[in-house]
Amino acid sequence: MEIICKRCLLSEISDEDTKKTVRELIETMPEDKKADDTTYHQRLDICKSCDELINGMCGKCGCYVELRALQKVRRCAHEDKKW
Ligand code: SF4
Repeated sequence: MEIICKRCLLSEISDEDTKKTVRELIETMPEDKKADDTTYHQRLDICKSCDELINGMCGKCGCYVELRALQKVRRCAHEDKKW
């Protein structure tokens, strides 16, 4: 039975194949496209307190928040623009 975890980032759950794919995308993202480290972690902290986060995925847009938050030009998918 799959465990559904609200409030978890992808890095905190155990789907190894998905985690590996996302980790590779993060590692290969060009530096000039990435948000700085402080911004990235502030964004993830907000996602972790958001009701839309389910198993590392945003319920508003369906993306993995660790990827979305890393991209400098991205914004929160919520209508309230939490970050
Ligand atoms: S709605 Fe915004 S804060 Fe909430 S999980 Fe999605 S991106 Fe993160």
